[in-house]
Amino acid sequence: MHRSEKLALSSLFRTKSETLPWHDRIVLSYERAKAIAALYKLTVDDVVNVSAKYWEFHMDPIQMLDFAAATLLTVHYNLCIGTIAMFPAGNQQVLQRLLSFELSGQFCLSELGHGLDALQIETTATLLDTGELELETPSDAAAKFMPPTTPCGIPCVAVVFARLIVDRMDRGIRPFLVPIHDGRTMYRGIVSRVLSPREGSHPVQHTLTYFHKVRLPGTALLGDMTTSLDVKSAFSHNIFRTVVGTLSMGAFALSSMRIASYVAGQYSRRRTVIHPSTGKPEAIIAFSTQKLAVFTGIAQSIVMTAFCNKAYSMFTSTEDPRQKLFIAAVLKTTIVQHCSSLLSVLSDRCGAQGLFAANQISVMHADIRGAAIAEGDVLGISIRFTFELIRGRVSPPAYLNPDHILAKHEKSVLAELRGIVGGRSEHHRGQEIESIILPRCQGLMEGLGHRLAVDAAIEAQVDPRIIDLYVASVIKHDSSWYTEHTNLSGSTQRQMERSSVEALYPELESLLGKLDITNYAIAPIVSDEQWTGYVNTLPMFTHSPFLDVQSRL
Ligand SMILES: Cc1cc2nc3c(=O)[nH]c(=O)nc-3n(C[C@H](O)[C@H](O)[C@H](O)COP(=O)(O)OP(=O)(O)OC[C@H]3O[C@@H](n4cnc5c(N)ncnc54)[C@H](O)[C@@H]3O)c2cc1C
Repeated sequence: MHRSEKLALSSLFRTKSETLPWHDRIVLSYERAKAIAALYKLTVDDVVNVSAKYWEFHMDPIQMLDFAAATLLTVHYNLCIGTIAMFPAGNQQVLQRLLSFELSGQFCLSELGHGLDALQIETTATLLDTGELELETPSDAAAKFMPPTTPCGIPCVAVVFARLIVDRMDRGIRPFLVPIHDGRTMYRGIVSRVLSPREGSHPVQHTLTYFHKVRLPGTALLGDMTTSLDVKSAFSHNIFRTVVGTLSMGAFALSSMRIASYVAGQYSRRRTVIHPSTGKPEAIIAFSTQKLAVFTGIAQSIVMTAFCNKAYSMFTSTEDPRQKLFIAAVLKTTIVQHCSSLLSVLSDRCGAQGLFAANQISVMHADIRGAAIAEGDVLGISIRFTFELIRGRVSPPAYLNPDHILAKHEKSVLAELRGIVGGRSEHHRGQEIESIILPRCQGLMEGLGHRLAVDAAIEAQVDPRIIDLYVASVIKHDSSWYTEHTNLSGSTQRQMERSSVEALYPELESLLGKLDITNYAIAPIVSDEQWTGYVNTLPMFTHSPFLDVQSRL
């Protein structure tokens, strides 16, 4: 049972947003964001401490009913409120107005020319003789990229990252609190250009934002003017909230997996075809291809629930920011990969119905592609932590089941990569690493995540049959390793998967129930009742009683 169950059933969330004009969809997403915010009433403490309520807010499947609203909310609370709260002096009033959603909050870090290399951003904030600051976008490449900064009915402030320039000296990248618009009109010197839509996903009005001689009070600087000796660490500290964002993206992916597995599972139970040998109708779930997709979805969702909860507890029980990001990165990389490939397969297994926005899966798939890049691009964070693992700057979390086949796989792959790096001379290292190690980074992080997920599932006493199917589904990611290093031939691996699915098959209905997602599966294809209700809302064209075909000829 989720806190938002009633809200999910309300007309605000049952409105078919995909049928609305673009502008109305944008407005609706803000309304939905405000309704979720009002339900949770998060405090600054919840945000700063990543409280259990804050985590519940991100795990709540209502977020996936409108991922544009979820995007607004997570940026608003995590990136905007969370960063301002790191420097609370003088900003209490703004924080209160943000908490009540009287103000909407944005976060402008990425620039068009500087995404993963955010340390190279060009925007400047120059200290003037008057004590004021002047914010400037010095080139087209320095346009802030992605955050929706156009007027949306609610006044907006943003945390904007820029180089602090004092006496012509660059004092490093700092966050500044910048009023962007009053809900209807942009503030002087700020230009927002709406990018053309990302197709398929819930629409967020992504923009390019430019600052031209924007005057700010000196107090707009979050933090002080002192020059940091360690530019990189100071930058990492100031963008710490993106680390929390990396973790939260995992929660969003989990809700998508649960909803998609339920929708495809229910469709597969309802949809029948005439069996060629019996001549009788048979539900398509009986086909092994259908079963495999649906049960893999169920097993991965249940195991990932255990992993998400474990990752949250590991994240909140360490004070070390590097360790926090490492845990968040492993979770995000692993779950986003599961989610992305699962949703693609489940959408296909619903045939033409899988392509329609009303049936949720294809839209969530497009939404998750965005989440994979935002707040820690999965490849970028995988590369970073693979090297940290190789160099021993971070260690894999404790092995709860060290003899498990997934633990053996993880240790072996890490040892292999360490051997490759260690065995190269300095001279050759750069090129070789580029070509050998980089393509392996995401796989290593996912392998580590699979092992941690199984450890978490065993600890949470998940049904061993579910864990068996999960293991069979992830072995496929590096099938040749298991053939080379264990007694699992290719056919044995396929047999493991088949028998795990068959062991669970009689319990399909109860397993779909265990996903605990019924009120969030708004897809018409989940039941006859929902389908009929949907058809009754479709635009209808029919003949006029006063016009027959003959009279037109
Ligand atoms: C839905 C969404 C919402 C967003 N919201 C915000 C927001 O609110 N505020 C904000 O500031 N930003 C936001 N962003 C921007 C986001 O932070 C950037 O997209 C992200 O940092 C990646 O930058 P980029 O898109 O410019 O990719 P690029 O930097 O161009 O990278 C593209 C690809 O190049 C390769 N690559 C780049 N560098 C390396 C490397 N060192 N090694 C190997 N390969 C490399 C990788 O394959 C990478 O995926 C959002 C993005 C999305 C998708």
